[in-house]
Amino acid sequence: MSYFKLPEEILKGGSFLVEDTKSDEVFIPEEFNEEQLGIYDMVKDFCLKEIHGLGILKVAQMDASKHMDEILAIFDKASELGLMSVAIPEEYEGLGLDFNTGLLYSEAISMAFSFATTIGAQTSIGSLPIVYYGTEEQKKKYLPGIASGEIKAAYALTEPSSGSDANSGKTNATLNKAKTHYILNGQKMWITNGGFADVFIVFAKIDDDKNLSAFIVEKAFGGIELGAEEKKLGIKASSTVQVFFNNCEVPVENLLSERGEGFKIALNILNSGRAKLAAGGVGGAKFALDQAIKYANQREQFGTPISSFGAMKYKIGQGVAWAFATESAVYRTGYNIDRKYDALREEGATDSEAKVKSLREFAIECAIIKVQGSELLDYATDEALQIHGGMGYSMETGIEMGYRDARITRIYEGTNEINRMLSVAELTKRAMQTKEINLMGEGKKIPAHLIGELIPFRSGKKLKEETRIVENIKKAFLLISGAAGRSLGKKLVDEQEIVMNFADILAEAFICESALLRVKKLAKNKDLDQKNLDIKKAAMRLYLYEALDRVRKAGYDAINSYASGAEKIVMRRLLMLLTPPYEINPKSLRRKVAEACIEADGYCL
Ligand SMILES: Cc1cc2nc3c(=O)[nH]c(=O)nc-3n(C[C@H](O)[C@H](O)[C@H](O)COP(=O)(O)OP(=O)(O)OC[C@H]3O[C@@H](n4cnc5c(N)ncnc54)[C@H](O)[C@@H]3O)c2cc1C
Repeated sequence: MSYFKLPEEILKGGSFLVEDTKSDEVFIPEEFNEEQLGIYDMVKDFCLKEIHGLGILKVAQMDASKHMDEILAIFDKASELGLMSVAIPEEYEGLGLDFNTGLLYSEAISMAFSFATTIGAQTSIGSLPIVYYGTEEQKKKYLPGIASGEIKAAYALTEPSSGSDANSGKTNATLNKAKTHYILNGQKMWITNGGFADVFIVFAKIDDDKNLSAFIVEKAFGGIELGAEEKKLGIKASSTVQVFFNNCEVPVENLLSERGEGFKIALNILNSGRAKLAAGGVGGAKFALDQAIKYANQREQFGTPISSFGAMKYKIGQGVAWAFATESAVYRTGYNIDRKYDALREEGATDSEAKVKSLREFAIECAIIKVQGSELLDYATDEALQIHGGMGYSMETGIEMGYRDARITRIYEGTNEINRMLSVAELTKRAMQTKEINLMGEGKKIPAHLIGELIPFRSGKKLKEETRIVENIKKAFLLISGAAGRSLGKKLVDEQEIVMNFADILAEAFICESALLRVKKLAKNKDLDQKNLDIKKAAMRLYLYEALDRVRKAGYDAINSYASGAEKIVMRRLLMLLTPPYEINPKSLRRKVAEACIEADGYCL
């Protein structure tokens, strides 16, 4: 019998922590249908033909400050194929893809290197504010052009003095005397697509407002100056500039939503951006690993392909297992967002309301997968470079470009530190303020349930031990965070190091459970694609093995940081009971996963 109860309302963000989700309640990537996979293939073909086809050395040397014409030519080709229209509803001449198919699209477009950022800004942060919050007139005026690529879009939130603290921006808007226009003054920084955008979603404060408002600003309004293209570590072919507003006149009808609603808009758009970034991270990681496996098979040293060496198999096995687990969590989240959207529509919400609310519901999961997707990508591109040895360091293979490009994903769409803190803060809010999640109640019950946890985990056919590991990671979070909350009270928010420990345990609970449920669902449903089930099981187990170690470390860190005396001893003992060794052979599992991919000559899960 499971410790956690079955969900009363499965579509509750964050509820995975206190409820026992069944495998048939989650979506797994093996369930994508032919149409969805067709979109993936079409986007992949575009990347391979139009971008990789230029030659990797050329792509690696492309820089927005020097190659704008070529970059815009690729933008136009993508537009002709309809790649800018994915998130725009059909009534505004878009494809109107559901959210999860949009994530699959993001996974595929990650193979476009810097262009993924360019296309991402167009299809996500640059246009979704209008899709979600625009009036009918605004939608009709801008969305068809954005969908066709004729209108190029950008999102201007960040300023030199306001990055993570986005609501502190100084850009100002005042109504003119005739009350026909807002006069915009200020400076935005790091604006993707800024060098060529026709339309900017600009966040500014009206008069002395405490909160931002959002505006649709056309370059043609005048009063806009652009800075030079930034010289960056990576994503060099994407345009990134400063944008200066000098008495830019914005018609009043271009205010998005209500006055003072801009910060809310910005945050909700970021929920979507975070999930898409996570899917892109999975795509980029799979691509990097794929390249590394192929290279390892053909590169010989000491008279044998380097893929035969255990040290190389370690890196491949580790990366593939991480990608498998993260991918499971990404599409589980996307599907739940779509289901919540459907439920809200049935209750009478408009399309836009349902989109915003469904994303808002899963803000915790979006923050978790953003962090995981970006850190997976960093690992995979770093180790892919290492597997390529000196060739990885050369521009010719494209691997160094991937390594540099990956680094931004831990910074934008909210830094990973902000997202870690946000995941815990949002969960706490739902437990303490809105009482949607019964954290306290579940946490208090745990000590009594610990008897019987002394037996070491052993991996068996029925995945019982793995189920217990996932439950225990959840229990560890509830137990330690609950005790720390009681001990530190409101001071806990100032102890960010401890909050980050909690964020890591929380994330592992979600990622591990997603990987486990995927394997369980596959094992139960023989009509699903069973390819590599055994390898997938090994990847899941390997991920759990690693995660358990991270949970143990984060848990001890938290306890050793906040507790003292008898409480410290008791809490450490309880954590030990919850995270005993998981008796698997990690070397064999890594080899199993790696050898399957080596034999397939590429990423094969
Ligand atoms: C290439 C690129 C493209 C971008 N594109 C866009 C775009 O299109 N539109 C747009 O509006 N913005 C864009 N950005 C901006 C991006 O979103 C910000 O860089 C990001 O939000 C971080 O802000 P910051 O750079 O000011 O860093 P800061 O906020 O100064 O953060 C610096 C460090 O301090 C940490 N930190 C900050 N606050 C806290 C806190 N409260 N607690 C703990 N740690 C904290 C951060 O995690 C980080 O490690 C882009 C940035 C880059 C580099």
